[in-house]
Amino acid sequence: MELQDNQYYIQGIPIKEIIDTYQTPVYVYDTEIIKRQIDRLKAAFHVPELGIHFACKALNNINILKLIHQWGVGLDAVSVQEIWTGLKAGFKPEEIIYTPNCVAPDEVEMAIELGVQINIDHIETLEFIGHNYPNVKIGIRINPHVMAGGHEKISVGHIDSKFGISIYQMPLVLRLVETLKLKVNGLHIHTGSDILDAGVFNLASEIMYDTAKKFKDLEFIDFGSGIKVPYKPDDVRTDVEELGEVLSKSFNNFCKEYGKKLKLYFEPGKYLVSECGYFFVKTNVIKQTPSTVFAGVDSGLNHLIRPMFYDSYHHILNVSNPTGKPRVYNIVGYICETDTFASDRVVSEIHPGDILCFKNAGAYCFTMSSNYNSRFRPSEVMIHEGKHYLIRQRETMEDLLKNQVEVI
Ligand SMILES: *Cc1c(COP(=O)(O)O)cnc(C)c1O
Repeated sequence: MELQDNQYYIQGIPIKEIIDTYQTPVYVYDTEIIKRQIDRLKAAFHVPELGIHFACKALNNINILKLIHQWGVGLDAVSVQEIWTGLKAGFKPEEIIYTPNCVAPDEVEMAIELGVQINIDHIETLEFIGHNYPNVKIGIRINPHVMAGGHEKISVGHIDSKFGISIYQMPLVLRLVETLKLKVNGLHIHTGSDILDAGVFNLASEIMYDTAKKFKDLEFIDFGSGIKVPYKPDDVRTDVEELGEVLSKSFNNFCKEYGKKLKLYFEPGKYLVSECGYFFVKTNVIKQTPSTVFAGVDSGLNHLIRPMFYDSYHHILNVSNPTGKPRVYNIVGYICETDTFASDRVVSEIHPGDILCFKNAGAYCFTMSSNYNSRFRPSEVMIHEGKHYLIRQRETMEDLLKNQVEVI
């Protein structure tokens, strides 16, 4: 989003035109940014075959998925519904990786029937596949117990995490592979989101290589994701170029030692789409109390729950008054529940009716939205090649009631 002559623009389109066309609340995605991030990630790695799979739980609009597919990226799915969505968007089964957690065997069976690559993180499920689908190739998700991630709820590699098969249970896994003749074609780790330090990846990758030596028929190693993007102006971010440099080197060395050119996989969600998204809301009220000035907007935790769920920071701009006097606000929603987007936040002076913009609204924002307080979920707009498109309608009363069964 660029500021020019006191107006914000995305790909040359004034934000005012977007708001006049679609009203608020509205999610807007700039596809140029997604393309930039894909290109940057691809350029950072120097390995024989890099496979990027987009974690679609971050953003699941089918138009975005189609573009990401066109740009040579596969799909990372965590549910059979995400696989179905991916297939509908045009991904081939072999371009989809399914990495579920705590799902029932019948869902794993569905994924097998659909022909996607499966990563298993549960010993009984390995046994189930060995007994029922002996010829299906599977990946194994390992928990290396490396602490990482920006917040407890998004750090999934620690010792008491429910994700992955513990590195300490590898002897048992290897026995199963032997006795059931499991066809393990890949290893997977995902240590958490928002990993700052390239060193964490290195530690995890060393554990990975050590483990990989014990499997004879690998085709890929999947490093999951956790690449951190900037949220504040001048925020720290994972240095993807440095990560690519270091990881490519160690990976190529490992391949030599292993005697085979393996594929290196990544499954970024946030890295590809966080920065492409902007969430626009309208200020309903300015409410002054003895201690605080609240700006109450036409949205809440029903549309953007990340600040309340894991204290995430979203930069907020007043697009109606970009160069106004900076003042301090608590920016809150209209939900009857405490839903504070930001406390003591400096924003240029806000008046009722002003349009505010939340940045980094591409990942885990719309996909986590709900109907709490019987509010409609917002619309989604895509800006692509200089034009804007409505890609999801705002909900209506019909949507809210459609699954209710009236029996009285
Ligand atoms: C959520 C998830 C990702 C994506 O994580 P980001 O931090 O958004 O990049 C990748 N792989 C798996 C298995 C996930 O569950």
